[in-house]
Amino acid sequence: MNESIKRAILEKIRAYQRIMLFRHIRMDGDCMGASKGMKEMIKATFPDKEVLLVDGQHSDYLAFLGEDDGPVPDETYRDALAIVVDTSNRDRISNPKFALCREVIKIDHHIETDPYGDLNWVEEERSAACEMIADLYASFRDQWVLTTQAASYLYLGMVTDSGRFRFSSVTGDCMRLAGEMLDAGVDTERLYAQLYLMDYEAVKFKAFVYEHMERTENGVAFIHVTGDMRRQFGLSLETASSVVSYLENIKGCLCWLAFIDSDDLKEGTRVRLRSRFMTINQVAERHHGGGHACAAGATVYGREEMLALIQEADEEAKKYKENHEGWL
Ligand code: AMP
Repeated sequence: MNESIKRAILEKIRAYQRIMLFRHIRMDGDCMGASKGMKEMIKATFPDKEVLLVDGQHSDYLAFLGEDDGPVPDETYRDALAIVVDTSNRDRISNPKFALCREVIKIDHHIETDPYGDLNWVEEERSAACEMIADLYASFRDQWVLTTQAASYLYLGMVTDSGRFRFSSVTGDCMRLAGEMLDAGVDTERLYAQLYLMDYEAVKFKAFVYEHMERTENGVAFIHVTGDMRRQFGLSLETASSVVSYLENIKGCLCWLAFIDSDDLKEGTRVRLRSRFMTINQVAERHHGGGHACAAGATVYGREEMLALIQEADEEAKKYKENHEGWL
C-alpha cells in the first residue's frame, strides 16, 4: 500500500543532510514513539546525517523515554527536512518552527483535514503512526538499520495507541509489524512496568474517581476533575487527565467522558471523550475539538457547556442503543 509515497519519503531522507522530527502538543505514546523511533532509525542507518528532535514539552508519564534535543537557532531549521508524525493539522504541531524547514513530510493516521506537508502520507485506518513507521521499515527492510532502541520506541507507540492491541483498528498487518519490532529485542516486561506502575497518590486518586463518577440515563459515565481535587491529591494536569481510562470498563456505558479543569478557568475545561461501538467525535467537533471516531478531545467553557456536552453524548448513546443490538 502506498509504495510510491514510502519510496519518496526514503529518497527525501537520503537527500537531506539534516532531518528534524516534529510531533503534536499534549504528547502521547504514539507521537513520542514515532518521533524518537524515526530519529533513532535514521541515525542508525545514516550515521553521517544530523537528526534533531526539538520539542520543548515534558510529560511525566513518558519521562522514561528520555530527553529530546535542546533548542537550536532558527538558521538550523532552514536547510532541514521536517518530518511531522502523528499530527493531523498544523496548529497541533508542538514546535511551530517546523514551518522554517525547507520541506515538510507529514506521516499520520488521523482523519485528513490539513495536508500541510510537501509530501503527505496519511493512512486513516492505521492503528498508530508508529505502525506506519514500522511499515516504512518493513517495506525497505534491507535498506534500514533497526536497533532494539528504535524498535522499542515504535512498539511502545503501537501498544499505547491501539489500547494494548484491543481496538478495532488493529489488523493482521499491525500485529505482523509489531512482531517484527519484538524480533528486534523489545524488553516487554520493562516496557509494561513503565506504562502501568502508578504513584501511591495516583492510586488513591483512582479510588476517589470510582467513588465520585456519575452516569447518565442512557449510559454515559463521566467525572469532573476540579483544580481543588488536583491539589488535594497533588496531581499534575497530565496525571489528572489519565482519569478517562478509569471509566472504560463499565457495562452498558458505551461512552465515557473526563472533564479536567485548566489551572486558569478562562482557558476552559479539557474534555476527553471515549466510546466503544458508537462514535463520539461528532460531539467533540461541536465543542472546539475533534479526533477519532471513538477517542476525541474538546474544550468547554463553563458549567452550562459541560452539561450540554453530557446531554449531547447521552442523546448519541440513546440513539445508538435504540438502533443497534449486541452492544455491551
Ligand atoms: P485526547 O483525549 O486529548 O487524548 O484526544 C483523543 C484524540 O482526539 C487524539 O487523537 C487527539 O489527536 C484528538 N484531539 C484531541 N483534541 C482535539 C482537538 N481540539 N481537535 C482535534 N482533535 C483533537
